[in-house]
Amino acid sequence: MPPKYYCPQCNKIVETYVKETTEFYNVRNELDVTVHMPVRHCKVCDCDIYDADLDSKILDEVYRIYEKKTGRKATDYKEG
Ligand SMILES: [Zn+2]
Repeated sequence: MPPKYYCPQCNKIVETYVKETTEFYNVRNELDVTVHMPVRHCKVCDCDIYDADLDSKILDEVYRIYEKKTGRKATDYKEG
């Protein structure tokens, strides 16, 4: 049995799948970053589902791009 996740859209525990998704992030209102990464989705409504492992990988990639483009550290940047 794969682990199940809570979907805020369906408001219940749902089955999910992972697919490559293009995500846009704006870092500190100064740099728009586009990443193409695996994101967990709800099988019922297809909306994005929070997944700590996948989300932290995406943020790592966003930081990496930010640091490469600006030459500055983004480690103190946290979403939300
Ligand atoms: Zn759903």
